[in-house]
Amino acid sequence: MILELAAIPENVGVARLMAAVVAAQGEFTVAEVDEVKLAVSEAVTNAIVHGYRCDGSRMVRMEAALEDGELVIVVIDHGRGIEDVAMAMQPAVTTDPERMGLGFSFMEAHMDHVEVTSQVGQGTRVVMRK
Ligand code: ATP
Ligand code: MG
Repeated sequence: MILELAAIPENVGVARLMAAVVAAQGEFTVAEVDEVKLAVSEAVTNAIVHGYRCDGSRMVRMEAALEDGELVIVVIDHGRGIEDVAMAMQPAVTTDPERMGLGFSFMEAHMDHVEVTSQVGQGTRVVMRK
């Protein structure tokens, strides 16, 4: 499934729903589906808030698929990008003092693999597997 969402926070719920629908086609427990929804919320929120600064004219792309029983979710923005991905993924690292800096930590805690590629001015791609 492929979803394109305008970059407004209200759309995070749609991304969560799509993740849950695809996960439900696989062999995941209710608790695992909840974990997937949480991880997707964090990735999509990051794309909207950090990537696009909530510019609703920009679009976040999300892909979700089951590959041999493994759920693969990709969240892509073509926004600001991240200067130092390894640093940004550390717990409590944020560029927004009003945030906790825990989004990537949650993604890593709730999914089996999280891979982030990003280029400043080009955008960010997050691939999560479970
Ligand atoms: P929280 O997720 O707890 O609300 P946060 O979003 O700051 O806080 P993380 O999700 O871990 O924490 O992200 C860490 C930092 O990485 C962000 O503060 C931001 O600077 C950068 N970042 C993350 N995703 C993106 C993105 N898609 N585009 C640009 N910068 C990003
Ligand atoms: Mg975040």
